[in-house]
This record gives sequence, C-alpha cells and structure tokens, in this order.
Amino acid sequence: MVAEFYRRLRDLEPSPTTELKYTNTYTLLVAAALSAQATDVGVNRATGPLFAVVDTPEKMLALGEAGLKSYIKTIGLFNTKAKNVMALSKILVDEHAGQVPAVREALEKLPGVGRKTANVVLNVAFGQHTIAVDTHIFRIGNRTGLAPGKNPRQVEDNLEKVTPAAFKQHAHHWLILHGRYVCKARAPDCWRCVVNDLCAFTPKVAAPNSTGARKAAPKTIGKVVKNTAKKIVNRRR
Ligand code: SF4
Repeated sequence: MVAEFYRRLRDLEPSPTTELKYTNTYTLLVAAALSAQATDVGVNRATGPLFAVVDTPEKMLALGEAGLKSYIKTIGLFNTKAKNVMALSKILVDEHAGQVPAVREALEKLPGVGRKTANVVLNVAFGQHTIAVDTHIFRIGNRTGLAPGKNPRQVEDNLEKVTPAAFKQHAHHWLILHGRYVCKARAPDCWRCVVNDLCAFTPKVAAPNSTGARKAAPKTIGKVVKNTAKKIVNRRR
C-alpha cells in the first residue's frame, strides 16, 4: 500500500527536487536555514540577488551582517537568521575549510541549523536517504495515516520505517509537493488526489460544484486527523 502511494506520486513527478533556489551546497545550506517559518517563494526572491554575489562562506563574511540583512530583510526573523548565517559561515571557514560537512552531527552544530535543515542538505546535496519533516509532511503523515506522530521527529521515524528503500531518496519531495498543491492544510483537494483510495482521511473533500463552491473540510479537521492516526496505529498493533 505504501509503495503504491509513492508510486503514484512518482508518476506525477519522476524527478522531484527542492523548490529552494541555490547554486552550490553552501547556498543550499543558507537557503534552507533562511526558509524556517518562511515560504520557498519568499526566500528565493531574496536569495536570487544575494547568491549572485555571495556563494561561499568567505564571501558571506566579507559581505558582513549588515550587508546580508539588506538582502534578506523581507524574510521573517531576518535579524536572527542573519546572525546565524554569519556565525555558521565563520565556523565553516574556521573548522571545515570553507566546506559544508556531509555529517549530520557537524551540520546540527551550526547555528540556526536544526534536524530539518540538516536533512534537506544531506538529502539534496549529498544524496542521503533522509526525510526532512516540514509542516506539510507532518500534516500528511498524520492525515493519511501513512506515518502518524505527535511531533516531527515521530513522523520522521515512522516514515523511515514504512517508506520502501526505492522511494527514500525522493520521499520528502513527493510528500512536500503533495502537501503544498493537493493535500493542503485548510481543505485538501481529495477529489483530484491520486492517492485518494489509499488515504485513511475521512470524510474526503468533494469537488467544487457548478457555482464554484465546494464542500469544505470539516471544522473538526484536527479531531478527524487525530482519530485517523489513532485508527492506523491500532490497526498496526
Ligand atoms: S485523499 Fe485528501 S486527505 Fe488524503 S492524501 Fe489525498 S488530498 Fe490528502
């Protein structure tokens, strides 16, 4: 069932990748760190001009914190993020010869780099089979019953367990795209969802009627998600 779930998402997008724009591993790390609580579109708008002039930690240090802020001031929490980017750039220069380490522990020691950002870098830049759980994946893991969990780490661990090896490399991109464009937070487009029959969420959201109105997702959506997750867990016991 899980393999079929991924197979259908793969048929829609055989070679998915991050929607963050970057030019090398360092700029991927910076973009991922800046994307916390921000949209990829908003980050890309700011980093396009930035990465045209800064693509190494050395150049970032030369630009300086005030210079960096002038590029990223449209991104939420930009003051803190600018401080973190400067600090992580200094560590990369001082301790990693200016290179981004391909090791989780070293990545997570960098200021502003948590497990999710490390997973993105390890997966996209280094081809490791990590699954970065963002808000979309957390929702899908619970809503569909694929990998229920009370927090992102539980969902990640459960996805690691149920995702067949053949799909692990791209699993998080398929799930993010699905969450961003179909299984949306407020009201999922169940009526046009390719995994509709494999998903435990009920009641499914119907197609818009001829006036353009559509049956909204129930107000008790949180409760439904919770109950669905419980059912799946019980079924597995
Ligand atoms: S059927 Fe609906 S809730 Fe289930 S994965 Fe598809 S869009 Fe999401």
